[in-house]
Amino acid sequence: MRATNPGFVPDSPFQRRLTPEWLEFFETFPKAELHCHLLGTIRKETFEDLVRESNAPVTQAEIDEFFTRGEKPVGVLRIFRALEAHILTKPAMLKRITLEHLEAAASHGVRYIELFWNWTGLKHAMSYEAAQSAIVEGLREGEGRYGIVGRLVPAVDREALPEDAVELVEAMCAHREPEVIGLGIDYRETNHEPENFWKAFFMAKQAGFHITLHAGEFGEHWRNVETSMDLLGAERIDHGYTITDNPELMRRACDRGMTFAVVPTNSYYLRTFTDDEWAERHPIRAMKAAGLKLFPNSDDPTMHHVNIAESWRIMFEYLGFSLADLREMLEASIESAWVSDEEKARWRELWLPEFDALAAKLPALD
Ligand SMILES: [Zn+2]
Repeated sequence: MRATNPGFVPDSPFQRRLTPEWLEFFETFPKAELHCHLLGTIRKETFEDLVRESNAPVTQAEIDEFFTRGEKPVGVLRIFRALEAHILTKPAMLKRITLEHLEAAASHGVRYIELFWNWTGLKHAMSYEAAQSAIVEGLREGEGRYGIVGRLVPAVDREALPEDAVELVEAMCAHREPEVIGLGIDYRETNHEPENFWKAFFMAKQAGFHITLHAGEFGEHWRNVETSMDLLGAERIDHGYTITDNPELMRRACDRGMTFAVVPTNSYYLRTFTDDEWAERHPIRAMKAAGLKLFPNSDDPTMHHVNIAESWRIMFEYLGFSLADLREMLEASIESAWVSDEEKARWRELWLPEFDALAAKLPALD
């Protein structure tokens, strides 16, 4: 029985049974979301509108399939490629998606969000400057309307050439906006090693942008995490699961206070573990046991059929995290946000007591 969760998490003997007060708690406490891809936030109705508006060669059956998350989910990258190739033809579309997600995220308690977006696959349709302005406009309007602060992190498309990544960083520098604060990297990690993009990361760092990388996802080697940390200047790692194959690297990551923006609904582990294994053997458990700083994120919420409140809930409901652990993760997410120290101090003063007050009202669980 998939009692309370949407259809993405398997039945598990490790599931805790939550009361409605607990479900409400996860929706309500203040959160920072630091690992979320703009294209992974599109609502299905919006997707349909955009296909119509751009007259894209995408059928309703394909859209239905894109938004169906199966028992053994496949990744979402093919959907992003369809969006880039045929559907996202106007900058205003990016503004719409941004605004809609800020509204959704705010409704799940998010106060601050950093959104990844890729320009490389879109450059046949729009300039960097036009695309970025549209998203930034969305962030500004969203803050006014929904009270949520949004920042933008352009990401390297690692399936494209290193020279495309350099071009991206040059565009970031040429069209600098205060909301644009760092550089990430995403798309298929397999056979697309992070060191190929050293020049783009070096240039971004030199220009004062923050750095994060997707690494150690899809079961790829821990050396991609090490390269990101030691060569490319990562301040955070997105995913990072295969670091658990290297205890010495985990120790070094702990010593450096490296944080990991993990995704409990990551499709690779849902696909490769059996239902019985998933909650018990998920590497997030080993990361925590090793003392790594981490916090949950939604990644591609509409396509993973998960919202950020549910991402937090899964950590508690399935992956063995306690209420005290949740509080620690909230602190880690604040610490990892790319905002000023004053802002972080303010959030700690406001958010942690809010979390504590809500937690104090929770009924005991069986
Ligand atoms: Zn991601």
